[in-house]
Amino acid sequence: MPETGHGDPATGGFGPENLPYGVDERGRVVVAHGDDVIDLELAGDLGVDRRVWTSGSLNAFMSLGPDAWSGVREALRRRLSELPAAAVRRRDAVRLVLPVEIADYVDFYASREHATAMGRLLRPGTEPLPEAWTHLPIAYHGRSATVVVSGEDVPRPSGIRNSDGGPTYGPTRCLDVEVELGFVVGVGNRRGEPIPAERAGDHVFGAVLLNDWSARDVQAFEYRPLGPFLGKSFATSISPWVVPLSALEPWRVPGPLQDPPPARYLRTAEPRGIDVRLELVLNGTVLSSTTTAGLYWSMAQQLAHLTANGAATRTGELFATGTVSGSTPRSAGSLMELSSAGREMLVLEDGQKRTWLEDGDCVAIRGWCGDPGTSDWVSFGEVRGEVRPGPEEVVVR
Ligand code: MN
Repeated sequence: MPETGHGDPATGGFGPENLPYGVDERGRVVVAHGDDVIDLELAGDLGVDRRVWTSGSLNAFMSLGPDAWSGVREALRRRLSELPAAAVRRRDAVRLVLPVEIADYVDFYASREHATAMGRLLRPGTEPLPEAWTHLPIAYHGRSATVVVSGEDVPRPSGIRNSDGGPTYGPTRCLDVEVELGFVVGVGNRRGEPIPAERAGDHVFGAVLLNDWSARDVQAFEYRPLGPFLGKSFATSISPWVVPLSALEPWRVPGPLQDPPPARYLRTAEPRGIDVRLELVLNGTVLSSTTTAGLYWSMAQQLAHLTANGAATRTGELFATGTVSGSTPRSAGSLMELSSAGREMLVLEDGQKRTWLEDGDCVAIRGWCGDPGTSDWVSFGEVRGEVRPGPEEVVVR
């Protein structure tokens, strides 16, 4: 029986209640179980075409839809005690790659605490929440081609930053992170056929941890009026494990009261929230702890909004919550908030001081549901990335 009781979210929390999906270095679909991974192509008949397990990503499997997802999960659970030895490898011996061929990427702004804090920092003296914020889930469009898997380095990006001497091009001086949860679309919708909020579960395959790396000086100069662009599009890291939506169902929570009442297409009967605990770790020091339980806009509302105008979605699309921040100082999901836009120094356990990220810094986000170490907790593992110096400055003649 594989070990499932570790209290460390980076390694434990992969019991039979979880069974998250990933893709190994050979392009084969694997499932984490305890300290092992299971190669699904070698696990016996799971009720779907076996070719979906060797196609290099989860997309072929995800496109089969919710009946196939639950059928495979049930079949695999029944087989856990009788798997062929060839199907099982130790998890720490497997290198995982990007699990999804990312078809598109949108990042929402669902935390009221984060949106309010950012408004105060970026637009002091004005109303921090934009007028539309309580009426619809605000988002910006990200870049699917620069979504990377945990473990990939993040070169420091360059861009145009404004300062007292005027706008200049160069490496960002304000490199930041955003602690988020991402959702992966398994089955899209056709153009002209919006997804009702209460049908989101038929379309969303699962969830990942997500770090929306951000260059705050670049972002601050470019973002008005069309939103972030190069300040965000250089890197977005996701965890290698995709936790199935069904593994998150026991951790549903009501979510905060919505006032004003949302438009009809954004109303749902089910509990809107999910309680995923998140931790931001910089060079080994836990800088903040938060949860997705208090997010104002839910995953289902975000997908309903994304398609409400008839926009189509496809297998492999990624949409994220936006930075998850709570109401206490040590529950903010970005350095922008934790350091008050660089004005307050953060001190790490070994005495290092930071406002923004330096080259060589290692950032990890861990995530889980339930109490670590108990029999039914569900871990996302972690998403990790190290900052390295950027390429030489681009010279324009
Ligand atoms: Mn973000």
